[in-house]
Amino acid sequence: MVNLIQIGSMLAGHPQFVVCEQGIAMCGTHGEYTQTKYKSGRVTKCPECEREREQQRIADEAAAAQREAADRKSKLIDELIGNSGIPKRFLGKTLTGYQILSDEQRVVLDAAKTFAQEFKKPGGHSGRCLTFLGNTGTGKSHIAVAIALHVIKNCNGTARFTSVSEINRLIRESKSYNALHTETEIITAFGNYDLLIVDEVGIQSGTDAESRALFDVFNTRYQNMKPTIVISNLNFDQLRDALGERIIDRLKEGGGLILGFNWRSHRQ
Ligand SMILES: [Zn+2]
Repeated sequence: MVNLIQIGSMLAGHPQFVVCEQGIAMCGTHGEYTQTKYKSGRVTKCPECEREREQQRIADEAAAAQREAADRKSKLIDELIGNSGIPKRFLGKTLTGYQILSDEQRVVLDAAKTFAQEFKKPGGHSGRCLTFLGNTGTGKSHIAVAIALHVIKNCNGTARFTSVSEINRLIRESKSYNALHTETEIITAFGNYDLLIVDEVGIQSGTDAESRALFDVFNTRYQNMKPTIVISNLNFDQLRDALGERIIDRLKEGGGLILGFNWRSHRQ
């Protein structure tokens, strides 16, 4: 068996470690240093330069790790945006990119900004909802999507853009014999996004089962204290008829706002 003393003496005898000369050498940057020449021919270099090189190597490694982490984060963000259901034409929308032409628009935009900032609060979002009512082309989807992108990009959150008809379709499909997901799984999934946007709330033609499922989505989110943004071309009375009093109650609960986009279409 080889013991430590033997290893020591083996190393000591190795040409790599046998000193044959020691003298003073000159570094262009750091001046004089003690240089050792070994029997193997190896010559020690300026210790300051070596130390700086090592520090540089550590800094380079840290920078590379940071780049990798940033890369991973941007890939994750792309993935989250890809899975968010946000229509392509709305990607890149921001709240600051929303053009304000009237005081009414400023009120809506300020409310949207306050709502968006709530996702950054230490305790998280209060779960209160926003309802955007108004004609097509007034920027309802723009503002809602801008909030969703803020949640994904700046708050490490998840967001999903959907419509009543998509929820109804998924619920219908869940009842088929070869369904990939059960109704409960779908409701749970919709109930868990940090932000859910439900677009195209119109005069409902859903079955009773679909209306129940839609209520379950809203109610699950309410229980989970997750906020929902509802978008509709209907006026408030029509919306109440379409969604029912119980969902309207959830939308108004705890500081929920019903905002009218009562201006002309940007697209006209
Ligand atoms: Zn040096």
